[in-house]
Amino acid sequence: MEMMTGTFLETPVEYLKGVGPARADILNKELGIFTFGELLSLFPFRYIDKTKIFKISEITDDLAYVQLKGRIRHVDVVGSLHAKRLVATLADESGDMELVWFQGIRWIMDKVKPGLEYIVFGRPSWFNGRMTIAHPDLELPNEQVSSLGDAFRPLYSSTEKLKSRGLDSKGISKLIKTLIQSDRFYIPENLSLEILGNLKLINRQEAFLQIHFPSNHELLQKAQARLKFEELFYIQMRLLLQKFQRTQKQSGHPFTIVGHYLNDFFHHYLSFELTNAQKRVIKEIRGDLGSGKQMNRLLQGDVGSGKTLVALMTMLIALDNNFQACLMAPTEILAHQHYQNITKMVSGLNIQIELLTGSTKPAKRKEIAMGLTDGSLQILIGTHALIEENVQFKNLGFVVIDEQHRFGVAQRARLWEKNEITPHVLVTTATPIPRTLAMTLYGDLDSSIIDEMPPGRKPIITRHIYETKQEQVFDFIRSQISKGTQVYIVFPLIQESETLDLRNLMEGYESIKQIFPAPEYKIGMVHGKMKQKEKDEAMERFLKKETQILVATTVIEVGVDIPNASLMVIENAERFGLSQLHQLRGRVGRGADQSYCILVSGFKLTTEAKKRIQTMVETNDGFIIAETDLRLRGPGDMEGTQQSGILNLKIADIIHDEKILKYSRNLATDIIHDDPDLKKEHNAVIARHLKIMNKYSENWGLIS
Ligand code: ADP
Ligand code: MG
Repeated sequence: MEMMTGTFLETPVEYLKGVGPARADILNKELGIFTFGELLSLFPFRYIDKTKIFKISEITDDLAYVQLKGRIRHVDVVGSLHAKRLVATLADESGDMELVWFQGIRWIMDKVKPGLEYIVFGRPSWFNGRMTIAHPDLELPNEQVSSLGDAFRPLYSSTEKLKSRGLDSKGISKLIKTLIQSDRFYIPENLSLEILGNLKLINRQEAFLQIHFPSNHELLQKAQARLKFEELFYIQMRLLLQKFQRTQKQSGHPFTIVGHYLNDFFHHYLSFELTNAQKRVIKEIRGDLGSGKQMNRLLQGDVGSGKTLVALMTMLIALDNNFQACLMAPTEILAHQHYQNITKMVSGLNIQIELLTGSTKPAKRKEIAMGLTDGSLQILIGTHALIEENVQFKNLGFVVIDEQHRFGVAQRARLWEKNEITPHVLVTTATPIPRTLAMTLYGDLDSSIIDEMPPGRKPIITRHIYETKQEQVFDFIRSQISKGTQVYIVFPLIQESETLDLRNLMEGYESIKQIFPAPEYKIGMVHGKMKQKEKDEAMERFLKKETQILVATTVIEVGVDIPNASLMVIENAERFGLSQLHQLRGRVGRGADQSYCILVSGFKLTTEAKKRIQTMVETNDGFIIAETDLRLRGPGDMEGTQQSGILNLKIADIIHDEKILKYSRNLATDIIHDDPDLKKEHNAVIARHLKIMNKYSENWGLIS
């Protein structure tokens, strides 16, 4: 909404009465506010109902802000020379309490007159054994006669620097009031009359007025609804237009042939039935591939739900149509594993497959390069190495990007540029993405979901154990190992103190070695500070059952498949995020044995940590876990959201405003379907606003 037309909205903020160059500078730096429009788009984060006056006897310290009405009894300066404070007693008919100021004492002394009645506003807390409000706002009752802001007091977030310049919440509110009361105050509408009418939305100017200075509850809600809709609607319009441009205006290779690769594989090499979910997803993919448009599809499904198999079958379709395919994995270990699995699965089909990673030798690289350019190499599997400049395909038709969230957006884009006609792209992720996030963050991709596990999988049994009962965990580890299965023990690694974490891990490793002594037990270790080669070797030994216990950090979080590992112990489980716990747990439960996950934690748990652990114990469903995680952490902390900028929402909230989000997406879809170039008269207002938005945002292109 920094994107608003009209000279009024585009006027630099320093020209506002009460701002000037110094305050303007601080508004620029602290809040990114340069214009009147941007200042008006700084919405209050909360409102205090000014019609509600608390009694002093009702005050508790868990009330955020209160408004009181009472008389000042006495005013005293107390404390020593260097720690002076001003203390006043405020009394109403129900009792009395203290008001205290640590700064600006002389000024307050002048202003606060004993015996007079004041409206007092602030945040109560305990201080020196009494209920106190520090630095309250005081107003004489007859000062409260302004026409704006009678019913509610808007609260704006501010910063220390802004406050030091008098721009606390009240200061900001004053500036905004000046703007709104200005003769030039004018906010052009950016939704069509049709939309406003159908949705019963208030107009934009009214919404801006009411969001800052609501006349009553109802109008506040109307203003919120209108501005939330507008925000989400324009995000969807942009995402969907982008998607439309890619799919409708850019052609894709039509894959019309179902040839012998897929048929042979399906009839002779696939040893099990596809799940219904897999069948459905393959159908969706084939719909895309046959359409003549470029596919851009997100494939979500829990660990082990059979995504890789779907990706492989799609690669075979590409091969049947005489195209090459590639699969890009986030780590070398994973690329290697994909290479081995896929080679094994299609071993009877006489397909040329190679692996390309950072550690591929120059001679091999050369050979691969040749095979790629002459077309004899059909499937290439690898890491980032795949998108290096010198890797050229003859006719790349299909790209799988595995575990997408580890890849940067820019890397994805580079792969797409490899051919004149963009290859079809399937992005797979084992971290299910909550629906609302999928609609925003990945809103320009089509989405397929595998929501069914292959039959016969035993759900992983998850237990929570306090660290005081570690002995039980050790006994259980012994019993599992005696059955011939293997165990992961994971320690947390938190970036802020890597050395400390590493020490924890080493101590953990040493104590595990003592509890499980050689030669009976063999223990390996992997962590992020090891060289790639050492990591691979440690994983390799574990895979070959040369070690029974693998002590690790979250480096094992991503995709590695060791079916014989049936127990995962997570130490300090309270320090892990929910999605991370789920990813870690996904490392077990891949074989025929019943698998277990034990979450070990300390006794003192925050409510949030308890909820995380409890969710893990209760469910194996990645979608439920992803939703819970989103609710617990909020969208800002979800993986992949920060860099996109798309979720820096001003007023809407993708968790609570899911309905508005869905509605706006549907409406945007209909509009684009009906009038893709926004040429129709009633869409002119939308086209105009999009143009302004594009002018103001360079970052938007990064999303796809
Ligand atoms: P994901 O990539 O989703 O983690 P994979 O495709 O690697 O899952 O599949 C996990 C395991 O399940 C593999 O060993 C695969 O062969 C097997 N699998 C996949 N689909 C089925 C199915 N429909 N029935 C039985 N096993 C399956
Ligand atoms: Mg996989």
